[in-house]
Amino acid sequence: MMPLGALALALQLSAAVPAVPSLPPLAVRAGNRMQSVPTMRHPDGGIAIRADAVAEALGGQLVSLSNGRARYRLEVGTTGVDLEAGSALAVIAGDTVPLRAGVFRRGGRLYVPLALATELLPRLGAGVLFDPDKAELRRFATVTVARRAPAPRPRAETPRPGLPASPADNVRSAPANRSASLRQRVVVVDAGHGGRDNGMSGPIGGGPRVYEKNVTLAVSKLLQSALEERGVRVVMTRTTDTLIGLYDRGPIANAAKGDLFVSIHVNAANPRWQNPGSARGFETYFLAEAKTEDERRVAAMENEAVKFETDADVSRDDPLGFIMRDMAQNEHLRESMRLATLIQTGLRTVHPGPSRGVKQAGLAVLVTAFMPAVLVEIGFGTNRAEAQYMTDGDRQRELASTLADAVVRYLEQYERKVGGGG
Ligand SMILES: [Zn+2]
Repeated sequence: MMPLGALALALQLSAAVPAVPSLPPLAVRAGNRMQSVPTMRHPDGGIAIRADAVAEALGGQLVSLSNGRARYRLEVGTTGVDLEAGSALAVIAGDTVPLRAGVFRRGGRLYVPLALATELLPRLGAGVLFDPDKAELRRFATVTVARRAPAPRPRAETPRPGLPASPADNVRSAPANRSASLRQRVVVVDAGHGGRDNGMSGPIGGGPRVYEKNVTLAVSKLLQSALEERGVRVVMTRTTDTLIGLYDRGPIANAAKGDLFVSIHVNAANPRWQNPGSARGFETYFLAEAKTEDERRVAAMENEAVKFETDADVSRDDPLGFIMRDMAQNEHLRESMRLATLIQTGLRTVHPGPSRGVKQAGLAVLVTAFMPAVLVEIGFGTNRAEAQYMTDGDRQRELASTLADAVVRYLEQYERKVGGGG
């Protein structure tokens, strides 16, 4: 049932957009308030939705950043998505993210692709879930990780059968002794490749040869020490030069009852790129279907390791598709995205190369881990300077300690969100 007021509002809103074919509105639920947000056909195909209306229905807002250049920020909770009319790119916490289609203005209003609300926002830790069965966008309370005490939370709605309880239902006050609860957390550290799977090797144009499997093992062991120094338990998928099957890494993590899965890798430039040896920088992937060509490149490259596994069953029933349909996994997606963002932010402070951003890919190693999972490409082994950087012991220690800090920050925020976990 839609309250009459909301219906009237929806009618007014759609009336404000002249001469466009109307589509069914999107239902948006925030607490026990339900609103309808008008949609329309996107000029490039697909569906567009009014940015200000969807932001407000989610309890957020659309802020105009400039009068001249049509720049806006869509804010929901503590998440901000910077948009520009005429552009199909959004900027989130300094990282550029491609949208399904462009942002545009019509009738004095800003419209965004519907997927921004139903796919992007749910991945950003904005406390937004899209329920495809009900075609309903839902906002649930999130605890702000700011200095101020959390406001009393309104009673959450009763979860519907078949839907997981909102994570907000688990919110308790922060534990008095944070380090004690951190000690209960298990981080699975996965050194990419190993054994007869060398991973990438470089650099292009000569110089001391580096093999990905050696760099990932060295950095992973240092990450283990750095995390243990910070009071976090660590399980390694390998500690020697051995090959662990790609599809076994996730199950190892699951068997260890890991809370978090961090896979370390070294990037390789596509030889077809112009001047591939010059490609530099670091990027962090979280589990999702690969979207851009570059993201597919990394997914294909890292999944290549399967060919080294004699008894790998790569044809098992589309694990990614299965997981993507699982609503519970939605929370892991969001958490993975949050961890990936913290890692990118941390690496920016120490890494000499550029941030290539937080990205998503359907990586087999991440698919089989039923926990928040990220894959960090700590640099390009094809670039001579970065190959040298990643093999320097001091720099490896610095990278490991930066990654450990990001993981601890993530876990502390998680503690504040769900309580002590005990
Ligand atoms: Zn790799």
